[in-house]
Amino acid sequence: TFKALRIDRTESGQTVAPVAFDEADLMPGDTLVRVTHSTVNYKDGLAITGRSPVVRRFPMIPGVDFAGIVEETSHPGLKAGDAVVLNGWGTGETHLGAYAERSRVKGEWLVPLPPTFTAADAMAIGTAGYTAMLAVMALEKAGVTPEHGAAIVTGAAGGVGSVAVALLSRLGWRVMASTGRPEEEGFLRDLGAAEIVARDELSKPGRPLGKERWAAGVDAVGSHTLANVIAQTRSNGAVAACGLAQGADLPATVMPFILRGVSLLGIDSVMASRERRIAAWDRLARDLDKDKLKALTTTIGFDAIVPTAHTILDGKVRGRVVVEIGG
Ligand code: NAP
Repeated sequence: TFKALRIDRTESGQTVAPVAFDEADLMPGDTLVRVTHSTVNYKDGLAITGRSPVVRRFPMIPGVDFAGIVEETSHPGLKAGDAVVLNGWGTGETHLGAYAERSRVKGEWLVPLPPTFTAADAMAIGTAGYTAMLAVMALEKAGVTPEHGAAIVTGAAGGVGSVAVALLSRLGWRVMASTGRPEEEGFLRDLGAAEIVARDELSKPGRPLGKERWAAGVDAVGSHTLANVIAQTRSNGAVAACGLAQGADLPATVMPFILRGVSLLGIDSVMASRERRIAAWDRLARDLDKDKLKALTTTIGFDAIVPTAHTILDGKVRGRVVVEIGG
């Protein structure tokens, strides 16, 4: 057996507790990984608290991200001892996940740990950071560049947001960081933000078209915030929609699209192809400043996963959290 966090469904909802998990109860897969590090993403908060129906199978081991060492594999591209990273693919949702000392998965889900990163670095990035990278790549593909204007990041002090701020500033953008936590201004400026935008300015119902304030956006928040970000984007700009921390609704009009040629770019990290993942991790290895990554990371132990799941849904986690799993 090994240590794992397990969610069980009960008549009154769900329970979550550390258990000794039997390896024989892991789900099918061609590769067994010794998990050394994980992280807590917003989605892990939803799964652990049961606030949204993220978990689709019970019992479930939550955790959508891990880094670790291949222990046994019959996958042709892998061998025992390989350092690997997993993001998404339904782990922690439909497939037993990351908060466990062992995980059995499909080898094709794993990407090699880039040599510039330790396992802890990879989890400091995690799904949130790799999603921020996918968002930046989508903006680049849409043809927007720092010459066109500034970039706004919403939910800036959170996981996706803080990595997006660090990446965009490194890539030469003038970054405007929107946050509901004015006390994080110094943190965000250290990551590279040039200007702070109060969350309230964007989170309330706004006009269909506003003053053109930025050329690009990375939005982790959804709802009115995303609508306002789109409405204040310059002609031919683009906005990458990543998240729903405010809400899954999008109370917007088509005006910015048809009068300004603004593009809305959808970002899905969970089912992104292996090629895009490898490209994103390559870019992270090149474009993410290690010192900034360190500055936005907090490390916790296994026992702090559940309390942190609650803190992240309250919008109180700063940057990213690494979980030391051990094993
Ligand atoms: P996080 O660390 O909690 O960041 C979310 C941030 O949003 C918070 O730190 C807060 O930033 C802001 N926020 C929270 N509640 C808000 C509210 N009611 N109204 C406005 N802003 C609010 O979470 P994360 O792990 O970075 O994930 C961010 C979002 O992206 C989540 O919705 C998550 O599900 C989504 N996501 C999507 C993908 C994908 O594949 N598309 C991948 C990863 C994450 P401030 O305090 O700075 O305002």
